[in-house]
Amino acid sequence: MNSPLSREEKAAGPNRSQAGSGRALIALRDLTKVYQEGERLQPVLRQVNLSIHSGEFAVLLGRSGSGKSTLLNMLSGIDLPTSGEVVFSTDRGEVNLTRLSERERTLFRRVHIGFIFQFFNLIPTLSVEENLLLPLELNGRTGPPARDRARGLLEAVGLADRARSFPDRLSGGEQQRVAIARALVHDPLLLLADEPTGNLDLETGQRVLGLLDRLTRQRGKTLIMVTHSPEVIGVADRLLRLHAGQVVVCDDPAEASG
Ligand code: ADP
Ligand code: MG
Repeated sequence: MNSPLSREEKAAGPNRSQAGSGRALIALRDLTKVYQEGERLQPVLRQVNLSIHSGEFAVLLGRSGSGKSTLLNMLSGIDLPTSGEVVFSTDRGEVNLTRLSERERTLFRRVHIGFIFQFFNLIPTLSVEENLLLPLELNGRTGPPARDRARGLLEAVGLADRARSFPDRLSGGEQQRVAIARALVHDPLLLLADEPTGNLDLETGQRVLGLLDRLTRQRGKTLIMVTHSPEVIGVADRLLRLHAGQVVVCDDPAEASG
């Protein structure tokens, strides 16, 4: 099969976990999340300990309801754990997300994190280019350098000619390519993708994944992706499976797809 995510490509390309510095970008320490609804307590994460290496591509597997999105929300600081810590190593030292205020976490996220969602989540009232300018503007970056940066990313995803289009004029695959450009435009430390091909047909999904893999690899970015795509399982640096509130590292891809 002529897949954009062949094993050959993986073998030829740099291995991110080796290409990266090998140091931990993120340390999860005894991370626990218990949701409460009325009297009912639902433990979703149970004392998870895990390091994410700088530059690695980790795939997060697990059944529906196992807590994958919950874990991404902890990693991005959108939500706080019940106990435990999420610690990032940045070029300015360690940042413990769990000790920051909500406002500080929002600022951290704007600077350091890029998201790609199943339903693209582009802003419908903004043009493609304006969607890319927004994360830059939120970081105080405006004017010609910001526009150059946005155009460069649109070129990288092959959509330079759609800069002035509105999202509803684009196909699903094109919208997701815009979302990839938007997630990278502010040069974040970490990319989080939650079932990014869940709303695309198989072939479009494979192209989008190939693009995401290539662009993040070229830029040495750390990528954590929730997906069920067997294609991705072949190119990821590490497979993580959430089960019964614990993260298990799978060494055997056959075990991972089971
Ligand atoms: P996944 O992404 O793996 O499908 P989620 O992280 O969305 O799983 O959800 C894990 C579990 O936590 C599910 O049982 C879900 O119903 C529950 N859950 C998620 N968010 C909340 C919330 N805000 N309040 C209460 N329960 C929640
Ligand atoms: Mg989910």
